Amino acid sequence: MQKPVKKVVIAGGGTAGWMTAALLRKVLQQEIEIELVESEDIGIVGVGEATIPPIQIFNQYLGLDEKEFLRETKATIKLAIKFENWRVDGESYYHTFGAPGANIGFCGFQHFWMRAKQAGLTNSLWDYDLNYLCSEQGVFNKINTQNPVYDLQYAYHFDSALYGQYLRKLSEKAGVKRTEGLIEHVDVDPESGFITALQLKSGQQIEGDLFIDCTGMRKLLIGKTLGVEYESWDHWLPADSAFAIPTERFDSTLPYTRSIAHKVGWQWRIPLTHRNGNGMVYSSKYISDEDALNTLMSHLDSKPLDEPRKIGFETGRTDKQWHKNVIAIGLSSGFLEPLESTSIHLIQSGIVRLLKMFPNERITPAMTQLYNAESKLEFETIRDFIILHYHVNERDDSDFWRDMRTMSIPDRLQQKMDAFKETAAIFNDNNDIFRDASWLQVMLGQGIQPQDYHPGAKVHGDQELLNVMAKIHDAKRQPLSKMLTHDEFLSRYLATL
Ligand code: FAD
Repeated sequence: MQKPVKKVVIAGGGTAGWMTAALLRKVLQQEIEIELVESEDIGIVGVGEATIPPIQIFNQYLGLDEKEFLRETKATIKLAIKFENWRVDGESYYHTFGAPGANIGFCGFQHFWMRAKQAGLTNSLWDYDLNYLCSEQGVFNKINTQNPVYDLQYAYHFDSALYGQYLRKLSEKAGVKRTEGLIEHVDVDPESGFITALQLKSGQQIEGDLFIDCTGMRKLLIGKTLGVEYESWDHWLPADSAFAIPTERFDSTLPYTRSIAHKVGWQWRIPLTHRNGNGMVYSSKYISDEDALNTLMSHLDSKPLDEPRKIGFETGRTDKQWHKNVIAIGLSSGFLEPLESTSIHLIQSGIVRLLKMFPNERITPAMTQLYNAESKLEFETIRDFIILHYHVNERDDSDFWRDMRTMSIPDRLQQKMDAFKETAAIFNDNNDIFRDASWLQVMLGQGIQPQDYHPGAKVHGDQELLNVMAKIHDAKRQPLSKMLTHDEFLSRYLATL
């Protein structure tokens, strides 16, 4: 690209478009002109309610007031995901945002826990996790301490459409120009292959130097215009459809997401302050739409507030997420089913990565290659983490679960599972947003039983280790006396807005 970047054009105003507009405006201040184009006729995908803790950093960077954010987006606190029926029907485990145990030696806490079990300990790993204890009791409070033993990590459940609208208000106030209109045609410079302008149905032309494709699954700029291929992962993650439906909220609000496996596919239940979000993710190769919908409707437990809505998708990623002068952010960059609530996070990390490498005078090949390599790795590690949930199952009630169990999986995932099974060791890629504690909980929860532990866990004698474990067990419970029910916390916290 020969021209310096003076103007960024964002195509699309869903969660991805407005998150991008808000952060670019904040970081680049008035140095660069930003215009966002969205079509009310097309609308947004309108689902997406669960997040992971780094969203707090995004909000803090934007300078959002947490209480105002909670109120504007009808948000609740999320401490964990409860996976029900995933290993076998009738059993459940939590993937919490916490880390079980404490740092008591060179090797991870799981090694000490395994050794203590040999010495007679009967507690589960989760008994040493404050996030788990608060989830089970339905309580939360903000704990003001530097002691990592009391660490209570949280994210939010929120209405992503309201989040987009909230960020729109802030972005427009900060100088982002919004244009409503349908993009009908995209101009490309025949020599460089760079996009030069968007042509709207109204006849308006929007020129720019750098274009962010936030057009969702349409992939209008990166796919349709520039022809970048889509790498499908449906051989590992065959779910291709979802039904979503809002229902009345329950009297008390859980501080975690429920993920409930069924004979084919799984159901989410996400508590917001004004309603519950529900949905069913499934593969049309294994179940008809009608049966999937019946499964969802018969497991709602509260009154529907709208008609169910069907959404189709293909799991995978756009091969080059930065190509020429277009960067794909949001659903245009790829799709991973919402099992671990990672899509909004991928928007966040895409924007941060772009800002890290933001072009000044020109776009260089090194910039785009590094951007693409990093985002590929990030997508792949999340993909592997999601495959893990499906693959390590002992369900025998359908071809779906049997096929998921017997399919071949990516080599890197196989190695991670083997290492854990043999020695309880967890190997983590630097770029993996899921740290050791996450892999540990899901590998154990899905039923991988390590055969051995690290020799470093033998530094204590049996009784000494049991005493250490008892101290951690008690310490983890100390903050519980300061907790409020989740609803009480929300109403007291928001009352001080
Ligand atoms: P969209 O919301 O589809 O926005 C696309 C924008 O492009 C719209 O403004 C549209 O008008 C505009 N546009 C398109 N074409 C044109 C055109 N020709 N002219 C003008 N404008 C155009 N994520 C999570 O993090 N947690 C979850 O729990 C979660 N659950 C999900 C459940 C399901 C079933 C699905 C499908 C997704 C879920 N997601 C979740 C993902 C999440 O919904 C998306 O990541 C998020 O909403 C961002 O979407 P987007 O902005 O990329 O696309």
